[in-house]
Amino acid sequence: METLACIKCFPAGWSCVLLAGASTASPTESLSFNPIKLVVLCGWVYLCLYFVQRVQFSLLVPKKYKTIAKIAALFVGPVLFFVLLIVDIGRQISTERHRSVFEIIKQQLQNAFAGRSSSGFISSRKEPTIRLLDSSGTELKQIYGHGKSKRGDRHVLDLTERIIWDALQQQASDILIDPKDNSIYTIRFRVDGVLRTVEQLDAGKCQAVINSIKAVSNMDISEKRRPQDGAFVTKTADGTASFRVASAGTVNGEKLSIRVLSQKAGMYTLDNIGLSDKQRSIIKDAIIKPSGMILMCGPTGSGKTTSLYAMLNEIDLYTRNVITVEDPIECVLPNASQIEVNPKAGITFAKSLRSILRQDPDVISVGEIRDEETASIALRASQTGHLVFATIHSYSNESAMVRLLDLGVTAVLLSSGLDLVISQRLLRRLCTDCKKPARLTQSQIDDFRRKRIDYKNLFHAGGCERCHKTGYRRRTAIFDMIVVDNELKASIVSSDSWITELRKAGDEQGKSNLRKQGLKMVLSGVTSLEELKRVVG
Ligand SMILES: [Zn+2]
Repeated sequence: METLACIKCFPAGWSCVLLAGASTASPTESLSFNPIKLVVLCGWVYLCLYFVQRVQFSLLVPKKYKTIAKIAALFVGPVLFFVLLIVDIGRQISTERHRSVFEIIKQQLQNAFAGRSSSGFISSRKEPTIRLLDSSGTELKQIYGHGKSKRGDRHVLDLTERIIWDALQQQASDILIDPKDNSIYTIRFRVDGVLRTVEQLDAGKCQAVINSIKAVSNMDISEKRRPQDGAFVTKTADGTASFRVASAGTVNGEKLSIRVLSQKAGMYTLDNIGLSDKQRSIIKDAIIKPSGMILMCGPTGSGKTTSLYAMLNEIDLYTRNVITVEDPIECVLPNASQIEVNPKAGITFAKSLRSILRQDPDVISVGEIRDEETASIALRASQTGHLVFATIHSYSNESAMVRLLDLGVTAVLLSSGLDLVISQRLLRRLCTDCKKPARLTQSQIDDFRRKRIDYKNLFHAGGCERCHKTGYRRRTAIFDMIVVDNELKASIVSSDSWITELRKAGDEQGKSNLRKQGLKMVLSGVTSLEELKRVVG
């Protein structure tokens, strides 16, 4: 009967509990039964208990306030929940000005009901939508206790999956897990060519993550000092991605480097990698020919492989026999034969190339020229009716040619085999949500005026949530090309002074050309002067 009396003064139910002793309400009023009020009361009590549980797992509530929040949730339940939600929405509106209020509220409500936090780089999804598989197709969860993993193991597996998932979401090219000291590990992603710290974990937890990655990569978990290599794949709704793992022991502990091999490399074409119309038509002219060699140059991470795939995607793989030698295979090309180099097993670029030539190929792609033997076989193949694509590690077209000569390739072979040399760099694009007009110094303005350059469209990097405070999102390429025409071929063979000149010019000529290409991107507001300086110098 007392409970029914409380329904009357709901929701301030506790006030009547306090006044219960002094209550002089008439018995007929107390006995009146209202089923709607009872349902509302039960609902309210249920919500109070539900939100006590929510507070326990909510990332909106700091750990030290959890007990107070739970007590508050027990009494005011949904009210506390909505207060916290409103506070978080207010915080987001003040920091993310580029997003609409409606968008933020929608996302916050979704996050709240999914039990997610909006802050932090590593997301805290409850339901993983990613599966980690070893080379034989066994899932990480199966490797850990035949799918019946213990609670502690499950936490490690969830964390591992989240790290890999976030790397894919942020389109990272590498994941580095390094011991900072004896007790802390840092997890960093390389995104758009620049490293960013995403998380710091205590050594014990991080070693467990390292072990789970090593287990799915078929590496020896007990071996922590000797360098090891491995690989695993992931399956998500977007498709499959491959990962190359390398471990090494350092003074403070074990270090893991994971390379993300994006399957998206195969989606690039000559139309979407940043070529100008003139550059595109030069490459297309070279690709149409039945033989010749196109050499891609650039330092590590300059996008050479992506451009190589873009060129291979231009070729009709049904009518031309295409064979590639790669280290590693970054993307599967349908209807092409791809061979992966494995020096430990004796499969080198040179050996693979020799065997390929016996298989009557029309087009050969060489992942990287590192020695004289590979260079000579590739150049000879281009003279004997094959179209050859290759990459070489160098900073400019000029130094690539010098490098080939230094490797021991003769000037005659170089001039007759080579048709087109392309060097490239990747520039980060300014984030369109936060870029701001550049503030130029008077001397820079004078310089632009003297050169009659329109500097009105120059921008600096800002920093917002969407670009993770970096001011940049995605990249574009700049190219410098040398067409090895008959005149140049004659100079290479007959003129020693030309080669001396080439050595002298070195990287400077190539850099100057790349700088010109990059400046066009800066003046059109695509990237910043600082980024151009960082990449080209
Ligand atoms: Zn931004």
